[in-house]
Amino acid sequence: DRAASPVTLDDWFVRDLGGLYQPWAAAPSPSPELVALNEDLAAELGVDAAALRTPEGVAVLAGAAVPTGATPVAMAYAGHQFGNYSPRLGDGRALLLGELTDTAGRQRDLHLKGSGRTPFARGGDGRATLGPMLREYVVGEAMHALGIPTTRALAVVTTGETVMRETPLPGAVLARVASSHLRVGTFQYAAATRDTDLLRRLTEHAIARHHPQAAEAERPALALLEAVVEAQAALVAQWMDVGFVHGVMNTDNMTISGETIDYGPCAFLDAYDPATVFSSIDRGGRYAFGNQPQAAQWNLARFAESLLTMISDDAEAAIPAATEVVSSFGERFTRHRSAGLHAKIGLIGEHTELVHDLVALLTEQRPDHTRFFRGLSAAARGDAAPVRDLVVDREAVDAWLARWRTALEEQDRPVAETADAMDRVNPVYIPRNHQVEAALDAAIAGDPEPFHRLVDVVSHPYEERPGLEEYAKGDPSATGYVTYCG
Ligand code: AMP
Ligand code: MG
Ligand code: MG
Repeated sequence: DRAASPVTLDDWFVRDLGGLYQPWAAAPSPSPELVALNEDLAAELGVDAAALRTPEGVAVLAGAAVPTGATPVAMAYAGHQFGNYSPRLGDGRALLLGELTDTAGRQRDLHLKGSGRTPFARGGDGRATLGPMLREYVVGEAMHALGIPTTRALAVVTTGETVMRETPLPGAVLARVASSHLRVGTFQYAAATRDTDLLRRLTEHAIARHHPQAAEAERPALALLEAVVEAQAALVAQWMDVGFVHGVMNTDNMTISGETIDYGPCAFLDAYDPATVFSSIDRGGRYAFGNQPQAAQWNLARFAESLLTMISDDAEAAIPAATEVVSSFGERFTRHRSAGLHAKIGLIGEHTELVHDLVALLTEQRPDHTRFFRGLSAAARGDAAPVRDLVVDREAVDAWLARWRTALEEQDRPVAETADAMDRVNPVYIPRNHQVEAALDAAIAGDPEPFHRLVDVVSHPYEERPGLEEYAKGDPSATGYVTYCG
């Protein structure tokens, strides 16, 4: 006799896309325990959070019980990792459980990461450890609260197992929600099979799921490419507006939906510096803060290549059409980034020179990125100290502030209103690297409270709250912060 399933799932991906997965079961967890449950997200999904807290619910979140309707599969995908092509990556330690319809009527994937070895595991142990899964949870929630499209954590469960890394660590499973797990690498895998029917089914599935307007276009696959180029241009601009460095922008970590995925070695800037790299494995700086638009466009060119046969039977026609769309990335990115920066400094019209000179000033002076932009609203209200205190060359910043001030006063909106609008786009709180590390360390040592507090803080990024001053400060040992894949 089965206990009631806390969630009922569909198997849309499995029905449509035979050839892109292997049915698989999670490894058993000796004693699963819930560490964090995302009640807001559960509500959005129409899932009863109380049911997820029961032993049956925790079993589902750990992979130990299969929910009603679910067909767990390991998804196949290929990918360029730091520019090198791997024909077969896939879910080495993850499973897609299935899809559900959220309370807004959207299809969302429920997926487990850290649920044991799969046929795609290669040399890996199939496991995940608590720290990196909690990092994915807290950074994803921060991104969501910042209005940036992202996959989100529904829960983190410890398995009761010890996982060997440099030291023995608690094993954990992350339950992740995404509008889908289709990646550029999924298309690369399908294209490499030379199975035209498979690539066509994938293209149609992706269009139906993420970019339905493309179905009406003369060349739907070209319209899909354009929609993904646009979504990624908007996404990377939003990352940069908040100082986010993804860290591992391989083609298997780029979604077709335009959601941020795979929070491995990611981190937020403290000091503004386009060359910032946090990841221990990114020695050449391929995915440095300022290189992210180029990296995205490179990935989109790989996506375009995988779609060529779907765009036209005639390669002579497909290649220039696809090239033109991929080439439009730069313009699209610049438009989004410029709009983002204009909003951050409170300017409504076009002030390209002011924006350009500000970026030059930031690059030269390297103030704390988050505090600088948040401080500008105080400057608009008449107190420039919070901004001036962050830079060495006060004259340079004063000169820029004076020009900006004039532009603020000349525009058709009261300066006080502009300052309030700026506070709605410039966060006070981001997941500061030292705070994240401290919270994860405490959780690993058995105290999850700092983690829960940090999630709460970064879930309300724009609202300055008393008693949270520590969370608004930069990392005192900011230079040389290093992140690791987990
Ligand atoms: P990532 O760098 O997290 O995007 O992962 C790249 C690839 O490595 C994916 O195919 C993962 O499934 C796989 N992978 C990462 N860690 C493990 C692990 N511990 N066991 C098995 N596969 C893994
Ligand atoms: Mg990945
Ligand atoms: Mg990863």
